[in-house]
Amino acid sequence: MRIIVLGGPGAGKGTRASLVAEHFGVPHISTGDIFRANLKAGTQLGLEAKKYMEAGQLVPDELTVKLLFDRVAQDDCQGGYILDGFPRTINQAQLLESELVKMGVNIDYVINVEVPDQRIIERMSGRRTCSDCGIPYHIEYAPTAAEGVCDKCGGEVVMRSDDAPETVMGRLTVYHNETSPLIEFYESRGSLKNVNGDVEIEDALSYILKVLE
Ligand SMILES: [Zn+2]
Repeated sequence: MRIIVLGGPGAGKGTRASLVAEHFGVPHISTGDIFRANLKAGTQLGLEAKKYMEAGQLVPDELTVKLLFDRVAQDDCQGGYILDGFPRTINQAQLLESELVKMGVNIDYVINVEVPDQRIIERMSGRRTCSDCGIPYHIEYAPTAAEGVCDKCGGEVVMRSDDAPETVMGRLTVYHNETSPLIEFYESRGSLKNVNGDVEIEDALSYILKVLE
């Protein structure tokens, strides 16, 4: 089972990818984890990627795809994998497809986690973070005992600029611009499955499995 999980910032893509991976008994592969592992191990590909990152540049798609295939060639991926955070662009999707064709395999499903932008802005603008110890809170789902005061260290609990509505809106716009061609691409391949992501986390997996049936 080879599945790609797509979803905007705050849509719960990573959580869903790990639930699906656990359900099918295959690894959950995120490009962030691959970069970290290769940098830590000092591999050839990792060192190459590091040059771009240190120069403040994006790692080229070709190199990202090489890193990805180096990972999925490992034994634990023989039965499939769940890709989280890849592909991000149409170019990456095309590179991925041509590599998979060479291997004689394909992506079974592309799960597109859909949450209305307004809901994402509501959820993210409720996030608060302790300015001293960094513990995350949420005014609705995980509030502090005393308003604005960290339960653990007594530090001041604030909204990070990343979670401010205008920042979140900007990130959503970038996401939609980047992803809409990707969604059309997988729709044309017949593998796209839209899943309602505006549900309680306990129900997330059953919503996905229903769509995959
Ligand atoms: Zn604290």
